[in-house]
Amino acid sequence: MREKNSKEVIINGHKLLCPICGGSTFWENKETNNGRWAYFFNLPHKKFDNFICQQCGYISCFWNE
Ligand SMILES: [Zn+2]
Repeated sequence: MREKNSKEVIINGHKLLCPICGGSTFWENKETNNGRWAYFFNLPHKKFDNFICQQCGYISCFWNE
């Protein structure tokens, strides 16, 4: 169940690896792309991509213009 929909992520040709546990499978959090994070950074018109490590839950956040 927990591994459902997790995937490897490529950022600008680089495979994303979790800096905490070294995991290489992530969930993409689409819910916050245009919501909470953009609001948090006071950039409501910017898009953020969030990838959550499937192993430890670390969130990698990318500012995607
Ligand atoms: Zn991790």
